[in-house]
Amino acid sequence: MGKEKKGIRLEHISKIYKDPKTKQDFYAVKDTNLSIEPGSFVTLLGPSGCGKTTTLRMIAGFESPDEGEIYLGEEAINELTPNKRDTAMVFQSYALLPHYNIFDNVAYGLKLRKLDKAEIRRKVTDILKLVGLEGMEERMTNQLSGGQQQRVALARALVLEPGVLLFDEPLSNLDAKLRVSMRTEIRRIQQEAGITAVYVTHDQSEAMAISDKIIIMEKGIVAQVGTPQEIYYHPVSEFVADFIGEANFLHGRVKSEKDGKAVIEIDGEQIEASQEGLKEGQDCTLVLRPEAAVISEEGQLPCRVVLSCFMGSYQNYHVMVGDTLVKITDFNPRNKKIYGEGDRARVAFDPENVHIL
Ligand code: ADP
Ligand code: MG
Repeated sequence: MGKEKKGIRLEHISKIYKDPKTKQDFYAVKDTNLSIEPGSFVTLLGPSGCGKTTTLRMIAGFESPDEGEIYLGEEAINELTPNKRDTAMVFQSYALLPHYNIFDNVAYGLKLRKLDKAEIRRKVTDILKLVGLEGMEERMTNQLSGGQQQRVALARALVLEPGVLLFDEPLSNLDAKLRVSMRTEIRRIQQEAGITAVYVTHDQSEAMAISDKIIIMEKGIVAQVGTPQEIYYHPVSEFVADFIGEANFLHGRVKSEKDGKAVIEIDGEQIEASQEGLKEGQDCTLVLRPEAAVISEEGQLPCRVVLSCFMGSYQNYHVMVGDTLVKITDFNPRNKKIYGEGDRARVAFDPENVHIL
């Protein structure tokens, strides 16, 4: 459907704003380099205020960068106004025309482009089928549910056949259940339309479910770019590990290292880890995901159980390893020994299933 999938490149992009309180200039986005593959689904993820919307608005042309250059395909687009760019944006607020029906909302952009009537009808019909609103052309938009309004907003952007589709937290106004089903829908529609998508969210599970690649932002800076698995299993910092999923951090020191096999000392215990690039003598942090460990008689680290709670699919433990609280989700506990509060035991994990910072 889209004429051509386009990649996006940001080269040394910065945006400076003035803080309204302090009147000081600050970087909302600082020296950002990104390369987004044609046809891929990429998510900008990070806490509120980290610069996601600003980055997206610069791609769309609603803001202009103070430094750097943005490319759409091979074309430098800094000087182009939004309507001259091959992008379309889907907003959180939908921004539908309230006194128009679905057909006219979706047809609006095509009428501005002065397409003939038959072609408009054909394109709108095709798109409404794609987003699952077939046969609802005459319904007024103020009579629609939140999910339906979001589909109209999506159809209105897609009908213009942009090279790139931009989303700014499009599901924030929907209830939790609908958010989950709509994100699957958005992914399906993006794949069927074969379009490049850049999606902004602060919801890490949404980002993981929907993305080919995730860009983690922290205070205007790109903290990490990778597939959901790369980011989850190999976070580059405690910030990233903590933002994506849950993580325990155990501080220690590298005792020895040889051929990607290291021995780490944590709380007086020697622990094996498999990871390249560690240096003997360096301080380090072991990132242990709650589901990567179990509690048993054997294991690398001694612990004391401070909370033990049956959750059905898993036993939820909080244990102390020295002074550090470690959370463990022990899945399928049905036929396992259950430890209670006050018990002494050990934390066991596979050296392949931890990450060292
Ligand atoms: P996010 O979308 O990640 O929540 P934004 O990109 O909206 O973050 O904002 C990044 C930072 O820039 C925030 O500190 C925000 O307050 C500030 N900001 C955004 N827009 C403006 C503006 N027009 N003028 C001044 N500061 C702004
Ligand atoms: Mg935002």
